[in-house]
Amino acid sequence: MTFKELNISEPILKALTSKNYERPTPIQEKAIPIALKGHDLLGIAQTGTGKTAAFAIPIIQQLEQQSPSKRREIKALIITPTRELAIQIDECFKDYTRYTTLRHTVIFGGVNQRQQVESLKRGIDILIATPGRLLDLINQKYITLNHIRHFVLDEADRMLDMGFIHDIKRLLPLLPNQRQTLFFSATMPQAIAKLSNSILKDPVKVEV
Ligand code: AMP
Repeated sequence: MTFKELNISEPILKALTSKNYERPTPIQEKAIPIALKGHDLLGIAQTGTGKTAAFAIPIIQQLEQQSPSKRREIKALIITPTRELAIQIDECFKDYTRYTTLRHTVIFGGVNQRQQVESLKRGIDILIATPGRLLDLINQKYITLNHIRHFVLDEADRMLDMGFIHDIKRLLPLLPNQRQTLFFSATMPQAIAKLSNSILKDPVKVEV
């Protein structure tokens, strides 16, 4: 299987070639076609499997193909438990959007918010965030989630272990009901299964 056979668009293929990705990893091969169709996805995969590209590529491609809105509004939101993961995911979006006009930024706690607020004000399509700082900037009215079409909950089990469940429960009602949700977890304990059930609509389950 090649990326081209997964019907990935030219600008993204070009970006993958410059990253020297030769072929999709198993999670990418399974998840990308489902996500490109707009389905919700329950992905059971660890870090290192290529799961970031498995959600980033279909989001970028769908945003590219949708009618562009006049103003830059946040149309895709990725939440992840740690600053390190957030930065890594942002780097991936930087690589994969290289030949598109989409803009992205990353926000996380533990640092002054000023630079993050500045980049939000410039207008972005894709936001990568840790839950605490996201809620904080929403409360300060620097962010609205009204235009989100694609929502990713990354490393859900770690999110739970780190005590972010309440933050997530506060975020969910702020998201539009009509959206695609991609839910990733390395493990599926009862609490995660319950959470995924409450968030996903008719999800397709993908396991590697
Ligand atoms: P992740 O599981 O998303 O953290 O990805 C793990 C590593 O695999 C990252 O360094 C990616 O850049 C790399 N990677 C992801 N997909 C591919 C691919 N199809 N071919 C080669 N490397 C990849």
